[in-house]
This record gives sequence, C-alpha cells and structure tokens, in this order.
Amino acid sequence: MRWACASSKASVLRALPTFSRSAASAASRFSSSAGVFDACVVGGGVVGAAVCRELTLQGYACLLLERSPHLASGASSGNTGIACTASDVEEGTVEHSCLVEGTSLNLETYKALNIPHRASGTVYCAYSTQEYAVLQKDFLRRLSRGDAVALLDAHEARGLAPSASQSLVGGLWVKGEVVVDPWLVPIAWARHAWENGAVIERGSEVVGASFDEVQRLWKLDVRHRSEAVRARVVVACGGLSGDQLESLVRPSPFSIKPRRGDYVLYENTGVGAEVGSVPLGSVPNATSRGVFFWRSVHGVLAVGPTAYEVDDRVVPPPPPADDVVDFLKQAASNSCSELANASIAGTYSGLRPGSELSDYRISLDQGRQWVTVGGIRSTGLTASLGIAKLVSRLCGESLVGQVSFKRETDVHWTPLPSVPSIVASFCERADGSVVFSDTPGFGAHYVTHPLTRIGFSRMSQHA
Ligand SMILES: Cc1cc2nc3c(=O)[nH]c(=O)nc-3n(C[C@H](O)[C@H](O)[C@H](O)COP(=O)(O)OP(=O)(O)OC[C@H]3O[C@@H](n4cnc5c(N)ncnc54)[C@H](O)[C@@H]3O)c2cc1C
Repeated sequence: MRWACASSKASVLRALPTFSRSAASAASRFSSSAGVFDACVVGGGVVGAAVCRELTLQGYACLLLERSPHLASGASSGNTGIACTASDVEEGTVEHSCLVEGTSLNLETYKALNIPHRASGTVYCAYSTQEYAVLQKDFLRRLSRGDAVALLDAHEARGLAPSASQSLVGGLWVKGEVVVDPWLVPIAWARHAWENGAVIERGSEVVGASFDEVQRLWKLDVRHRSEAVRARVVVACGGLSGDQLESLVRPSPFSIKPRRGDYVLYENTGVGAEVGSVPLGSVPNATSRGVFFWRSVHGVLAVGPTAYEVDDRVVPPPPPADDVVDFLKQAASNSCSELANASIAGTYSGLRPGSELSDYRISLDQGRQWVTVGGIRSTGLTASLGIAKLVSRLCGESLVGQVSFKRETDVHWTPLPSVPSIVASFCERADGSVVFSDTPGFGAHYVTHPLTRIGFSRMSQHA
C-alpha cells in the first residue's frame, strides 16, 4: 500500500474551493495603482509561499499563482521534513548563503507561527570503521563552519540512539537539525502572507508572459482566468517545472533534472515512543544526505529517502519498486531491530527539483524585472526563508526608483491553531482537507504531504 492523494477522492478534491480575493481590494491597500501587483509569485510550493510572505511583509502588493488546486503539491509534497544546517552544503554557493540566512530564522518563525516542530538534532550513525572515518571528516568540516556537533563513540552514540543495531561503531551528532511538519511549513508561509494582504489563486497556471518596456509591467496570461495579471516584478518559483516556466520568456538558463526519493512508513508498531525521536541518519555521500530513520512530529515512524535521477516529473511519482522498499526496510531495521518484522503502513515518494548544477539557480533579469528561483533541490524547506530574503533584496534592486515599499499597517502574526484543532477540522471535513479555524477566509487546503496526512489520520482515529 502507498500513501497517495487518495484517487478515490479525486472528484472531491477537484471540487474543493480555491480561494481568490479581488485583486483590487488587496492591491489598493499597498499599491500605488490598483489592479497592478507589485509582485506576482508563480508557484505555490514552499519556496513561492515563503517569497510571497516575505514580499508581502515588506509591503508589496503580492499575488501568488499556483497551477494546482492545492498549495505544496509539487516537490514540497514529498520531502523528509527535516530542517538541516548550512554546513550540509559547500560554502560560497547561493544555496549555502540561503541556508545560513534561513536557518537563522527558522526556529523563531516556527515558534511565532506555531508550526509543529521538534528541535531534536540528528545522530548520523556509522556501522563500520570506514563509515566512522567519513563521519570524523564531516565532524571537522562542520566544526570549522561553526556547527554545534559532537563526535560520538559507540557507547555515546547508543545513548542517543538506543534502538540502533549492535554493529553501531559511533556517530556524529548535529544539534541544529529540526524535525518539522513538512506540509504546515508552506501552508503557514502562505497563510501568513494571506493574512497580511497577499492574494492567493490556486488552479491558476501561467501559460504566457510578456513585458511592456514602456510601462515596465509584466502581463501574465493565466489559464482559466478571464483577465491577464499585471505586475511589476515576476518571481518564478516553478520547482519541478522551473525550466518550463522560464521558457515562456527566454531559453531557460537551466534544465531541471528530477531526483527521486522514496520512503517507507510503519504502522503503529508498539515500539517505545522515544524510538526515532532523535532522527538517525546514515553516512552522507557525494550525491545524497543519506537515509534517515525518524519519527515525524505527529508520531509516524518513517525511513528514507533514496536518491536517484529520473526523467518523469509527475508528482506523486509511481510507487517504489520492491527492491527499493526492501532496501529501506533493511535501513530501518539497522536503526531499530524491532522493525525487522513490523508492518508497513505505506510508502511515499517525492522528486527533488535539481538542475544540471549543484547550486540553486537564483538570478535577477534587471532589465525585465524577472526573478528566477530555480533548482531548489534538496534543501528548500530549510532554506525557504533565506531564499525569500534574497529574492526581496533582488526585487528591491529591480524596482529601485519606481516604487517605494513601506507597510502602512503592522504585520499580523496569527499563529496556526493547535494540532488537535487542525485534526478536528481534518476529521470533520473528511475529504483530506483542513480549514484553519481562526482564518476561515484562507480557504480549505488539501493535506498534500503524505507524512502529515497519515499523522492527521492516525490522530483523528483517536480523537
Ligand atoms: C525526497 C525529498 C527529500 C527532501 N528532503 C528535504 C529536507 O529534509 N529538508 C529540506 O530542507 N528540503 C528537503 N527537500 C527539498 C525540498 O522539498 C525542495 O527543495 C522544495 O520543496 C522545493 O520547493 P519549490 O517551491 O521550489 O518547488 P515545488 O514544491 O515543486 O513548487 C513549485 C510549484 O510551482 C507550480 N508551478 C509550476 N509551473 C507553474 C505555472 N506555469 N503556473 C503556476 N504554477 C506553476 C507547481 O505546481 C508547484 O506547486 C526534499 C525533497 C525531496 C523530493
């Protein structure tokens, strides 16, 4: 079995209301000319939602367009949900600087918006002396970058990873890693943007774009929208379709090379609640951060992801092959031997929107006020707030002298309702979606991420 978007409910999902506020009402609050958005963000994944939030908080009249009926339905619906640290990636890259800025903001913002998270750290486990040697190198590299890390011998590692197999040789503890609800992050970014005046339109695919050099305005053609969107700046956050989005206006400067990751989820196993509370990572290699075994913020035991290139970009991808599932089950039983014969609750898979380069592809075409945010491969959940800060600086450069942005009202900070209240809505609606009680105008949102969805389902059985 596999956790997918419950195809039997497809018709219900299509019928979910998508929310759209009148462009004029929001734009007139912040924009000098009603009907023209300061910024149009294309793509409602975790990155587009974070960018829309940041620009809105800065005072831009902002429109977010998402082609799917649901936010976070691309790469952002199939990740691990672990906010990593900046020392995961090479210094001097755009990705590294976005991670540094993002990680400095994540915890305080999760707390302010009541996003479920667990600042657990991760123990990377070595099961051979060769693996331990790799961790020793990684330890020194991370230490030199200022990460809070500790190299653990077998005894110390077992203290933090009591369920790990007897062959554990040692570990590397990375304190700054945070388990977070992978669906509520993009939703919280979008909701915060919305409550501060952003307009969010779902089911709105951008299919054409032209720039008026005289008025210095973009005109975007949107499928199923009677009027074209007019905006001063476009921020293209197309994720897995990032190169196709670019090709609406120019030959794309990059090609998306999707990298698939698969996961196995366990039934409630009866193993102790502490098992997986500190994620156990494997030893990272040149192409992947390795496989994790962890318990989600809603208590679901999971193992994954794999990492391999694929051609197809359809999300969710088809279920993993049996040998992939067997590999993940083996990894899980290394981390917790009691899982060797445990029942599988399902699988899920995601696609990382990598490109032919290992760095993010973020740039500004100043002449045309177009910001490209592409190739946000395997760290976008963590870096999203940092990416958003960078984009806001690029937008400022792009529009210098044209518009001055200043919020006229204080920023509202309504935290997410409690998890039981969100689960009550999930239970009551019974179509896989949630309405947030204190911001009902934000609309109904289908829980696109399988890890969150199974967590809510389990909690609703006990509600
Ligand atoms: C297996 C896996 C594990 C991962 N683990 C982690 C992790 O633990 N920690 C971490 O930080 N990151 C992780 N990531 C990476 C993270 O999930 C991605 O970097 C992030 O989701 C990318 O977000 P995005 O908004 O750029 O793309 P997407 O989520 O794909 O969003 C792009 C959106 O643009 C929309 N769109 C495209 N074209 C158009 C158009 N023409 N008009 C309107 N809308 C359009 C799409 O429908 C889509 O919703 C992982 C990813 C995967 C797949």
